[in-house]
Amino acid sequence: MIEARKETNMQYRVRAGRSSAGLGLFAEEAIPKGKRIIEYVGNILTDVSDEDTPNNLYIFNISKHVDIDGSPRWNIARYANHSCRPNAESEIKKGHVWLVAKRNIAPGEEICYDYGKEYWNEYIKPKGCRCVKCEEKREKQKEKEKTGE
Ligand SMILES: [Zn+2]
Repeated sequence: MIEARKETNMQYRVRAGRSSAGLGLFAEEAIPKGKRIIEYVGNILTDVSDEDTPNNLYIFNISKHVDIDGSPRWNIARYANHSCRPNAESEIKKGHVWLVAKRNIAPGEEICYDYGKEYWNEYIKPKGCRCVKCEEKREKQKEKEKTGE
């Protein structure tokens, strides 16, 4: 069964905007640590076979029988990018997925969460991670190579 869940339950004002990795999700107001930010919504797939599950990067596995296909545009939470040093995390509660602040988030800050090891290895590693932490690592590496000459 496929059922559309459209209510994003935005608890704090956020918006999609330009980021270093294309589009990203940005806080428009201060979000305190531990607070829910927005619900990750989309098409709820219940007992949909693997062959019939859409093959896209926005599938969120909730339980053995339920996945959320978060690819629809009404799911604003889909714009949150991956980070290896995230300021938010995903939380699954009673079949709902929330983005929750891991620390205090300032207005204008980009909201990122860790997509998980499986996703990272499959989709991010081959292209190279674009998060702030990995960019810093690359910069340091470059510096090292420079001074090594
Ligand atoms: Zn990274």
